[in-house]
Amino acid sequence: MKVLVLGAGQLARMMSLAGTPLNLKVSAYDVNSDTIVDPVTQQKLGTGLAQAIAHADVITSEFEHIPYPVQELCQQSGKFLPNSTAIKAGGDRRQEKQLLDKAGVTNAAYKIVVTEQDFYQAIEQLGLPLVLKSALAGYDGKGQWRLKTQADAQAVWADIQQFMAGADHTLPQAIVAEQFVRFDREVSLVGARNQAGDMVVYPLTENHHVAGVLAVSLALPGQQELQQQAKQMFEAVATALDYVGVLALEFFQVGDKLLVNEIAPRVHNSGHWTQQGADTCQFENHLRAVCGLPLGSTALVRPTLMVNILGEDHVSPAVLSLPSCHLHWYGKGKRPGRKMGHINLSATSTSELAQRFDLLRQHLPEDEFPELDLVAARLKQLQ
Ligand code: AMP
Repeated sequence: MKVLVLGAGQLARMMSLAGTPLNLKVSAYDVNSDTIVDPVTQQKLGTGLAQAIAHADVITSEFEHIPYPVQELCQQSGKFLPNSTAIKAGGDRRQEKQLLDKAGVTNAAYKIVVTEQDFYQAIEQLGLPLVLKSALAGYDGKGQWRLKTQADAQAVWADIQQFMAGADHTLPQAIVAEQFVRFDREVSLVGARNQAGDMVVYPLTENHHVAGVLAVSLALPGQQELQQQAKQMFEAVATALDYVGVLALEFFQVGDKLLVNEIAPRVHNSGHWTQQGADTCQFENHLRAVCGLPLGSTALVRPTLMVNILGEDHVSPAVLSLPSCHLHWYGKGKRPGRKMGHINLSATSTSELAQRFDLLRQHLPEDEFPELDLVAARLKQLQ
């Protein structure tokens, strides 16, 4: 089967690598340059969306900020999975919130803000602190403001207005004002749904961020009750969307309760550990789902963690001498903060993983990987 991925980044690349043993041929459509490329080599294969659609058996996506006209053409072809309603819900926080409410899934209280009056009403109704997020084009903490005190309100509103004025006006922009959640930790659930409505989910993953960007994910055994809660929410959202493919839900954990922060209608960075830690990796399961193949087991085969490599194109090759340590580069040009690759580290138990992580840390400079001390302490707590 021929699969076309909208977007030609690392997620398309890893889908292509996972699809090769199944004889699935993955090509990628670069939305910015209107070219079709091999997502592994970046070799140009053609030009134009119409040609790309015509050659594909299935069309899927690796990101949610896809121009609506592109989505509409794909949807009209009848080959687009997941559907554009799901992609739009991932790319527009207004639609995302409506979806979560419709699915009956707990999320932070919010108000949509367009005018200054809405902004002050949000402060009054939701209280402070507030997290304000642009409805469109917001990801990895971009397009976000924190409002802590009434005294800062005027300055924050001025900032927001400036941001909105500079936005692309092909779609109406707005702000989602959200109540600040005092969470204990952030976790995510990656799962897949096929066309028959069968669903599988991976174990809940604990995520650690630096400046709003994912730095480390931990996939460990246990957490049965939380897993069950997350699974129910996943099933509610995936069913409401008639979703096909891999879908990720990001949560805040408050006590023993989960609130959905956001959804990602695609394979997800917090699921990269599945390449070494799960029976079937998320990339293969996404392809299986969209190609109408049976879903693979999502069982955790061994405790695994993932470390993102941000803004660096080199790590010591000595990391490969560590047991069960795997390095995945994306073949991208170096830019500050850019996701360049990741490291997966596995072990037979959480305590062995903690020991191996201490060895790994010796090869990763603290200025490039500032969060690792905290994660090491966390692993020791969990063993
Ligand atoms: P997001 O882009 O929505 O994932 O937000 C980026 C990060 O900001 C999250 O990973 C959280 O750490 C934090 N954050 C987002 N929304 C809230 C909220 N309502 N309350 C507290 N922290 C938040």
